[in-house]
Amino acid sequence: MTEQGPVTILSFMSIPKSDLDVFKGMKNGEEFTYKMSDAVQRFFPHVYKRMDIKKFKLCDENGYLQTAIKPVIRKPYLMFQDKLAVGCGDSVFLNDPITGQGCNLSSFCAEQLYETLIEWKHSKWDGEMGESYRKRTKQYVKEVTEWTNAMTDHCLSMLFND
Ligand SMILES: Cc1cc2nc3c(=O)[nH]c(=O)nc-3n(C[C@H](O)[C@H](O)[C@H](O)COP(=O)(O)OP(=O)(O)OC[C@H]3O[C@@H](n4cnc5c(N)ncnc54)[C@H](O)[C@@H]3O)c2cc1C
Repeated sequence: MTEQGPVTILSFMSIPKSDLDVFKGMKNGEEFTYKMSDAVQRFFPHVYKRMDIKKFKLCDENGYLQTAIKPVIRKPYLMFQDKLAVGCGDSVFLNDPITGQGCNLSSFCAEQLYETLIEWKHSKWDGEMGESYRKRTKQYVKEVTEWTNAMTDHCLSMLFND
């Protein structure tokens, strides 16, 4: 949903340095629109056939996003000047969005953080509490990450075999 109403988005996930890795260093929406229609035509002709190329454009000049994801899992807490700092969500564990579970993992960990804070409400919030929170989430984060990596490998090998 945009300020111009509902729109259809196209999303590409390219393997770095592959033929499809064409969305780099774009300066404006016009360049992006051209690259997108060209890439769809070259790599996904069956999708291109369904596009009305005369109408194909961005909903506004800034209506595109280009990013690179480097999956990373960090320790979710830190003592800083004798104060506990805790984190959850993408700032702590960033998955490749290929299996689309970033929100689920983030909300699971937010819930676990809430449960930890309630459990420790009468104790000092220190590294021990941070570790207790980490232990609550560790197994789940590990499984989600392994699943995501397995799917990523699977998708990559499918692309390479194609
Ligand atoms: C293109 C794309 C598609 C995705 N598709 C899916 C999907 O289909 N399913 C799914 O589950 N996940 C998906 N994800 C992942 C999902 O969006 C994230 O995992 C999730 O939003 C992480 O939540 P978060 O609260 O940790 O971070 P965010 O949602 O990024 O929230 C962080 C917030 O902090 C704010 N902020 C940043 N710096 C500061 C500061 N200094 N002071 C104050 N505020 C600040 C930001 O403005 C933002 O509102 C997708 C991500 C992308 C980029």
